[in-house]
This record gives sequence, structure tokens and C-alpha cells, in this order.
Amino acid sequence: MDEIQQNLRQVKESIAKACRRSGRNPEDVRIVAVTKYVDVETTRRALDAGLVHIGESRAQEAVPKWKALGDRGVWHFIGHLQSNKAKAVAGKFTYVHSLDRYSLAKELNRRSEGVGQPTRCFMQVNVSGETSKHGLRPEELTDFAREAAEFPWLRLEGLMTMAPFTEDPEEVRPVFRQLKALQQELQRLGDPRLAVPHLSMGMSRDYTVAVEEGATFVRLGSILVGQSYSAGR
Ligand SMILES: *Cc1c(COP(=O)(O)O)cnc(C)c1O
Repeated sequence: MDEIQQNLRQVKESIAKACRRSGRNPEDVRIVAVTKYVDVETTRRALDAGLVHIGESRAQEAVPKWKALGDRGVWHFIGHLQSNKAKAVAGKFTYVHSLDRYSLAKELNRRSEGVGQPTRCFMQVNVSGETSKHGLRPEELTDFAREAAEFPWLRLEGLMTMAPFTEDPEEVRPVFRQLKALQQELQRLGDPRLAVPHLSMGMSRDYTVAVEEGATFVRLGSILVGQSYSAGR
């Protein structure tokens, strides 16, 4: 069996177990295969293995991959997005996970309108407060969500966060729990546009904890397609 297929089978098993521990339905957890470390051929193998959601984090590398494979799968832009790259992303990437400021929302809305395709957005929250991380401060989220909801070509789908790097994934459980609490706060506002259904959280080392805490999209790179895993190896 192909190595990616094998990895995928193990990941699905771990997700199923995490769902059993937390009383969730595994069908509510979608896997985004993060292909930023790998080439077009490996990305194609990920699609061949049955992965549907493909995540990329740099426009310069993502767009050539999308040009080769964009008619297959659903494409997610997961990295920090400069406003001047919104043009490259709109119409190609169904989802953007890194919406974190007004200027980007405005430009992404404009570019999405230009290509006639709305962009589904996750608002990125810097829950851990690390200065190295992008994202809204938790206390900025509600006001930002209200502003972003006014853009007709953006669809607010959920919240995204990146947990700090730790050896023990248990240590980042509170980060995931807080993102879920923020989602519930938005849902309590009673505005259907702000009641976002999804949580994009969990990476290779902490995704099982994220699933236990309610992740509906996990973003998996190294554990699934490898770090520098190239065709023919
Ligand atoms: C690289 C990246 C991932 C995947 O990282 P792994 O640890 O390899 O699973 C997930 N999310 C974002 C935003 C990334 O940049």
C-alpha cells in the first residue's frame, strides 16, 4: 500500500478513537492534507489516496500546485495571507483559514467579487498570545466578526488557531478549549451570520487532543504526507 494511504488509515483510526473518547461522530471531522512541504506529484498521491481537502500556506508555491491539480479536491489557504496576495487566492481556494484583519477582509471580498466566487473564511485567533503568531486577540473577535460579516463575498465558516509547540500535546488542550468557548460566545450573539459552525484546529502533534475538544477540520502535514517526502522515495 502507498505510504500516504497507510498514514491516512492510521490517522483515521486515531480520529475515530478520539471521537469515541469524547462522544463525537468521526464524520464531523474533516482532514485537511497540508502539502506545503511536498511537491505536485506527492500532492497528487494524496488526492489519489482519497484525501479531498488540500491545505497550502504560501501563495507562490500553492498557485502552481493549484494550476496542476485544482480541478481535483477542495483547496484551503492556511498560512498568513498578505492583502496583496488575495488576488492569487480568490477563486482558487474555497477556504481561507487565516482571516485576521479588516484590510485583508476588504481585499479578499473585493477579489472574490471580481472572480464571482465567495470565499469561505475561518477567523484566525491567537489564543495562546504568542507574539510570533498571527491572529486576532480573543477580545477583538466579536467586533471583527461583525465587520467581516458585512462583506457579501465572504462567508464566515469558523475559527482557526495554532497551538504553541509543546512536547506534550496535553499542554495545549486549554488553547483548543478556549477556541471552542469563543465559538460558543459568537453563537450566543443570536446573529446567524456569526454563528460559525466550524473549528479548524489541530496539527500533526496535537490533533487527537483538538478532536477531543471539538475540531471539525484538522490540518495535517508531516504525519500524513511527510515533511520532505518526494515522489519515487
Ligand atoms: C504547516 C502547517 C500545518 C501542518 O503542520 P504539521 O505539524 O506538519 O501537521 C497546519 N497548519 C498550519 C497553519 C501550517 O502552517
